[in-house]
Amino acid sequence: MATDCIFCKIAKGEIPCSRVYEDKDLLVFLDIAPANKGHCLIVTKEHYETLTDLPPELLRKTTEVCQKVAKALSLSLGTDGFNLFMNNGRAAGQLVSHAHFHIVPRFSTDGIRFEWPHKKYADREMQEYQDKIKKFL
Ligand code: AMP
Ligand code: ZN
Repeated sequence: MATDCIFCKIAKGEIPCSRVYEDKDLLVFLDIAPANKGHCLIVTKEHYETLTDLPPELLRKTTEVCQKVAKALSLSLGTDGFNLFMNNGRAAGQLVSHAHFHIVPRFSTDGIRFEWPHKKYADREMQEYQDKIKKFL
C-alpha cells in the first residue's frame, strides 16, 4: 500500500466507497464525480501506478472485469454504449496515481463528447513515427 493513496485506502476499507464488485484482486466502485450516473472505476487492490506497471496476469483479469461491468451497465441501466478509458500519468490527466480504468455508461441523447484536437503529419512524418514506435514492439 502506498501511504496517502486514496484508492489504497478505499481498497483497505479505510475510506468508504459505493462498491459494485469485489474479488481478491480487484474492486469496482462508483466514481464520486461521474461523467454519467453509473460511471464505474475498476481498481487493482494492490498499488500500481499505471497500465505499464501492472503484471500481465492482473491486467488480463482487469480487462475481464471491465467487460463484466460493461455488460452489467447495459443490463441494469439500458445503456446505448460505454466508454472505457484509463488516464496514465499526470500529463494524460491521471489525478489518482493508482492504476484504474473508467467505464462511463453512455446514452444516445447524453450530449457528452470526448474530444481532442486533430493534428496533421508533415510529409514523411507518419512514416518516421511508424518506424520509431515499431522498433520497440
Ligand atoms: P483519474 O483522473 O483517471 O485519476 O480519475 C480519478 C477519478 O477518481 C476521478 O474521476 C474522481 O472523480 C474519482 N475519485 C476520486 N476520489 C474518489 C472517491 N473517494 N470515491 C470515488 N471516486 C473518486
Ligand atoms: Zn494506491
